[in-house]
Amino acid sequence: MSDSSFLPDDIQDEQHTEQHSALKNYISEDIRRLILILIISGLIGLGIGHFILFIALGLMFFFALQFRSLYLVNQWISQHSNEPPPELSGIWSALLFNVYRAQRRERTLQAEMVGLIDRAQSSLMALEEAVVLIDEEHCLEWWNPASERLLGLKLGDRRRQVLTILRNPEFIKYFNHVEDHPNGLILQSTLQEGRFIQVKITRFGYESRLLVAYDVTHIRKLEQMRKDFVDNISHELRTPLTVLSGYIETLSDNDDMPQRWRRAFDQMHQQARRMNALVNDLLLLSRLENESSKSKNQIVNMAELMNQLFDDAQGYNTEFGHSVHLNLESHNDIIGSDIELASAFGNLVTNAIKYTPNNGDITISWQDRGDVSIFSVQDTGIGISPEHIPRLTERFYRVDSGRSRETGGTGLGLAIVKHVLAQHEAHLEIESQEQMGSTFKAVFPKHRLQPPE
Ligand code: ADP
Repeated sequence: MSDSSFLPDDIQDEQHTEQHSALKNYISEDIRRLILILIISGLIGLGIGHFILFIALGLMFFFALQFRSLYLVNQWISQHSNEPPPELSGIWSALLFNVYRAQRRERTLQAEMVGLIDRAQSSLMALEEAVVLIDEEHCLEWWNPASERLLGLKLGDRRRQVLTILRNPEFIKYFNHVEDHPNGLILQSTLQEGRFIQVKITRFGYESRLLVAYDVTHIRKLEQMRKDFVDNISHELRTPLTVLSGYIETLSDNDDMPQRWRRAFDQMHQQARRMNALVNDLLLLSRLENESSKSKNQIVNMAELMNQLFDDAQGYNTEFGHSVHLNLESHNDIIGSDIELASAFGNLVTNAIKYTPNNGDITISWQDRGDVSIFSVQDTGIGISPEHIPRLTERFYRVDSGRSRETGGTGLGLAIVKHVLAQHEAHLEIESQEQMGSTFKAVFPKHRLQPPE
């Protein structure tokens, strides 16, 4: 078999596949050869009167040929399998061809894989973001040049434990509990002051991790500018608003005011109150954003807080006529800030009351569920259709802005709730069905709970 027949292009390959897969042909080729040898040796044997002897010699010759082929096949497989196989006939030719083709496929595949890995690697090398591979033993396996710039990794760090190099306590906590931070973590850079790095770890395989990090200093700056702007403008609005509200109130109290002015003043009074509420909510939000959750470590007496909420709800409820129920099952207290929790829970209760048509049912509960404790407010109100639920905690997001304004809402209540809960490492769950009512749940983790003594 010629060399070119062993290096076919795809088309030749297909043709050969057909040819060589017909093992039958090769066996019959061998049989034909055997018969030919037997005929020739038989004829010679008959000619010189030793028929059986020459038949036996013919058979031996045939087997010798087969053994020679076997020897050559073995030689080629063990020593020269990169070179074209030796030229053989019959079944050996088919065998060699199939082995050679499988090897060629394997090599092509390998080359493709190596090319792919090379390409992936060079694109990772060119990335602005840091990419670090961490093995099962938490050792650094591979990283791109950006990791050296952003995380300070050095050539000699290969195979070193990642936590001995990136030693920020927050990072260590994140590394060991990746699932607790689905959005990753923002760290202050140790290499350059005032620089912030967003880190995200993804687990893969058996305990391996892929770390991606990028510079978010610019985004942080913009975010800070936004916070400062809202904070400043709220502070600036406060003084003129107080002056205006004061005058409006004083003038409204004047009994001699002509009737046609009365309505206008009432409206001015109402709008000034709304603006005040808005400014206060904005200031509270801005404070919540700038504070750290660590400072919230009072023991908040939940029995007291729940009773306070219940009393406030009864007061606010007078014009709505709902039945308000208190369900105090858990004996746990919360470790946190009482003012903030009172404000968040109060928002949920007020919403339940104002978004429920008169004479509804409102239940305020504090319960244990396994390891966690849940504060919840359930109402029989107008409910919320599912597409709005994920957006409710956005600032100024309202399902029905007319109704919200009518009820004096600022559109910031649930944003405040979300921030307060985040500061207490708790989260909000909302279950609702239109026209059937809603349940807002604040779920507190075990480490934020203080069990009864
Ligand atoms: P608002 O000041 O408008 O009440 P919130 O942030 O407190 O602002 O609430 C956002 C929106 O969520 C509300 O405008 C309202 O459409 C909806 N919402 C909140 N609580 C309830 C509830 N208990 N039932 C129905 N809708 C609610």
